[in-house]
Amino acid sequence: MELKELYQEIILDHAKNPRNKGRCEGYNHDAKAHNPLCGDKVHIYLKLEKDKNISDLSFEGEGCAISLASASILTDTLKGRDLQISKKITDDFLNMLKNKSKITLNSLSDNQITTISSLSGVQEFPMRIKCATMAWHTLLSALEKKV
Ligand code: ZN
Repeated sequence: MELKELYQEIILDHAKNPRNKGRCEGYNHDAKAHNPLCGDKVHIYLKLEKDKNISDLSFEGEGCAISLASASILTDTLKGRDLQISKKITDDFLNMLKNKSKITLNSLSDNQITTISSLSGVQEFPMRIKCATMAWHTLLSALEKKV
């Protein structure tokens, strides 16, 4: 299978069967965003523990396949992770879309790198980049904003 096809399959899978959808119990941070250009909406919920571990992470949202897949992949990748590492992964992801850099963090498994990289296809479509980055920017806002 070509890499492009694999990426498309991953995105469709996450868009059709989003992981961690809904409000996670006992969340203490949240933020939402709206992309009027595409009609995408996302609301991120997370539970940040005293030891700075993101013990739970979920989202509610509607919109295009890219925006749903991106939010689902975000929760799947960062749930249960340390706050600083999560921020690093987010920076790396945003950099990948902006500067076409590769994801190389050693805190991610090969499988997780492939999953995150599936969204790199939108690099060629400036209108869609916002669809892919919105959930990740919203996560950063949520981390700054206590309930
Ligand atoms: Zn969209």
